[in-house]
Amino acid sequence: MKKLLLALIASLILVGAVSAGNAAFAGNIGGAASALMLQEQQSGHRDIDPKTYVVYITKTGKKYHLDGCQYLKKSKIKTTLAEARRNYDACKVCKPPK
Ligand SMILES: [Zn+2]
Repeated sequence: MKKLLLALIASLILVGAVSAGNAAFAGNIGGAASALMLQEQQSGHRDIDPKTYVVYITKTGKKYHLDGCQYLKKSKIKTTLAEARRNYDACKVCKPPK
């Protein structure tokens, strides 16, 4: 009988550890979600100002890009959306606003 009680206590501790882990996991998810929301607020496509919105062009390409796009590895020239869209098209990979 004592053995059964010990087993019960052991499993309770185990469950406790697992749910503590879940709480930490949920915390991470929550953090990621709020970071995503913040990003959405900052790069919201609705009220952007083309004159201050920063995009990047390359020396040879015909597209403009968002920071971090794979096409900016070779060259990266900072410009504004207003300037870029006069002579360039929006990149299909990083999808900057048009
Ligand atoms: Zn791009």
